[in-house]
This record gives sequence, C-alpha cells and structure tokens, in this order.
Amino acid sequence: MSPDQALRDQASQIASELSRLARTAKVLPGSIQQRLTRCGRPGCACQADPPRPHGPYWQWTRKVAGKTLTRRLTPEQLERYRPWFENMRRLRELVGELEALSLQQAEHSEGWESESVSVLGRSKRHER
Ligand SMILES: [Zn+2]
Repeated sequence: MSPDQALRDQASQIASELSRLARTAKVLPGSIQQRLTRCGRPGCACQADPPRPHGPYWQWTRKVAGKTLTRRLTPEQLERYRPWFENMRRLRELVGELEALSLQQAEHSEGWESESVSVLGRSKRHER
C-alpha cells in the first residue's frame, strides 16, 4: 500500500467515526467533577470536628466566552449525559488525529522539521 493510500484510509476511518458521532447529535462540552461542600450554618455537621461535608455532588463545568459555567447534576442526569461527554472527548481525539495527519503531510512536503508534538496525549518533544 502506498503512503498516500494509507493516509487516505486513515482519514476516511476518522471521517466515518466523526460522522457517526455527529449523527448522534449528543455531544456535550466541559468536564465533570465530584464536589464536597460546606455551608455556613453554625452547628451543621459540615462544620463539626471531624467535618462531615455535604455531598458528594456532581458538578459540570464548562467555559462559555471565557466564563466558567457550572451546573449541578443529579446521579441520574450524570448517567444520562455521561455518553454525551464521552462523545465530545472522542470527537476531540479524532480531530487531534486529523491534525497530526495533516501536520505530518505539511512537514513532509515542505521539508520542515518536526515541531513539538502534543497531540494524542503524547508528551511534548522537540526534534532538533
Ligand atoms: Zn453544612
């Protein structure tokens, strides 16, 4: 198989997974964290020694126009939307693969040396 053919195969594999994800129309940005909180009520168990904080709660955090928005999710909501967050994570991964593919080609055809590679979770590496 020629390098071009291998590249096209890889790209069309990415394309079909991207389109499968798009067709679900279930893609949510942001991250989920578990939170314990303390209130201000004097005498509440969360203020005791040792403290028994409230929660855990599930918190969904995302950025909109540079602002961080948070929303509390019930365990049921978390279960319902977990695959939507998974889809977003996978989508970003696939875009990253596509970027890496494109970068390789551009570097190859221009004779540029490889820059730092941070896609696909690899550690930064400078090849000089
Ligand atoms: Zn409390």
